[in-house]
Amino acid sequence: MMDKALLEQQLSELPLYVYTYIDPRALEFSSRIRYICQAECPMYGKSWACPPATGEVDACKKRCAAYANCLLIGTIVEVGDISNIEESLATRGDHEAVTNEVRDLMRQQGVEPYILSTEACAACDRCAYLDGQPCRFPERMHPCIESHGINVIPVLEENGLEFQYGGNIVTWYSLLFFNE
Ligand code: SF4
Repeated sequence: MMDKALLEQQLSELPLYVYTYIDPRALEFSSRIRYICQAECPMYGKSWACPPATGEVDACKKRCAAYANCLLIGTIVEVGDISNIEESLATRGDHEAVTNEVRDLMRQQGVEPYILSTEACAACDRCAYLDGQPCRFPERMHPCIESHGINVIPVLEENGLEFQYGGNIVTWYSLLFFNE
């Protein structure tokens, strides 16, 4: 059994804007989200962390359903100019670092989370997917939440959170699915 009180105390010491447990069964999976990946994301078809490599939405849903619990974490940062995509995306690294810190805290308690995070994986200069090779670091690779067809907005709303706060505020979220 994971010591949730210990984890929460450790989470409170990290630069997290929010951390809260959510019911993974309440997540909305939708092929509409994946349509946006396909139509609008330049990473579609270029990484093991992105569709179609992540599998059909139903398969993604089953993968997540194997976990009874889910921890939602979020970070928030103000940039000089949110329309500067490069500047906004550069803040992603800090979010991924804190996501890995949370993963390590869970691992210390013998829990291995399945992590969905932000954007496509950038662990390698060239993703092995492009060369038809298996992922080199599956333990480091965190597919983005949208890659699994998850519409995160309803769950954010239920928790009084926004996907975008306007102004120059950038928010990032991760979902860590786990079994105790
Ligand atoms: S770890 Fe490397 S091979 Fe695996 S998804 Fe990330 S970039 Fe691709």
